[in-house]
Amino acid sequence: MTTALITHQACLRHEPPPGHPERPGRLQSILTALEADEFRPLLRREAPEASLDALARVHDRDYAEEVLAAIPSRGVVHFDADTAVSPGSRDAILRAAGAVVEGVDMVMKGEAKNVFCAVRPPGHHALPDRAMGFCLFNNVAVGAAHAREVHGLRRVAVIDFDVHHGNGTEAMFFGDPTLFYGSTHQWPFYPGTGRPGDRRPEHIVDVPLPAGSGGAEFRRAFSETMLPAVTTFRPDMIFISAGFDAHQDDPLGQMRLVEADYAWATEKLCAIAERQCAGRVVSTLEGGYDLDALARSVSAHVQALMAA
Ligand SMILES: [Zn+2]
Repeated sequence: MTTALITHQACLRHEPPPGHPERPGRLQSILTALEADEFRPLLRREAPEASLDALARVHDRDYAEEVLAAIPSRGVVHFDADTAVSPGSRDAILRAAGAVVEGVDMVMKGEAKNVFCAVRPPGHHALPDRAMGFCLFNNVAVGAAHAREVHGLRRVAVIDFDVHHGNGTEAMFFGDPTLFYGSTHQWPFYPGTGRPGDRRPEHIVDVPLPAGSGGAEFRRAFSETMLPAVTTFRPDMIFISAGFDAHQDDPLGQMRLVEADYAWATEKLCAIAERQCAGRVVSTLEGGYDLDALARSVSAHVQALMAA
């Protein structure tokens, strides 16, 4: 069965100030890489806009309305030191969340077995009532909530291998044992959450890794902790917060992953999905700031989805 690629040109038009690492070129480099012949079998779909109702399942409705109302007609408006919106941001942020919603629909209708959403801005730092860390709306959480509310899935899991801890997603999932959040991330590091030794419920699995960790440490964290926890959780759908800033070439993180590590992790998650939930995997882009490493890593990730 098919792997779908969901994206939209509007996601290129969210423009933080010049010099910002979360820039349109990230998505452009990914889309160029995915034009290669080997990706011809992908089922390509344009991301629709998420509805306010879909956003309000995980965000305060007032916050969502406030973000949309703040979009300027020129210049940028800052929500914090590193999170800003530009005139093109309305379409971008609505379609970034809408892509994950559409991905869930495609998988549940049997149009695709699994999905990669090539969208920006990322979402995993966005809290119910606050933008932070380049993130306005929590795309993956919006998709997970849609899977439950609209398709009646009971248990959903988000696995996040971005170099940063997805504090927004964790906060949204923390109080509900039918929502699993698992993260490998560099620690100590931004945003400071996901600390070793924190008390957390069984459905929240944080594996902090020291700066300098490479494929061996990452794979051990997956094999010994993450994969057994996801297996025990028995999800009805697996979401991946696919950030690629733990790559050794990334300018923000100090971890040392390579493309093969991302392919490996993707294969392992797809294998669990195959056994437990008909292969249903919806992956969405989070970070990744070296354009070449990002394009190669996404290529490896999507190849693994296609091979699943
Ligand atoms: Zn990140």
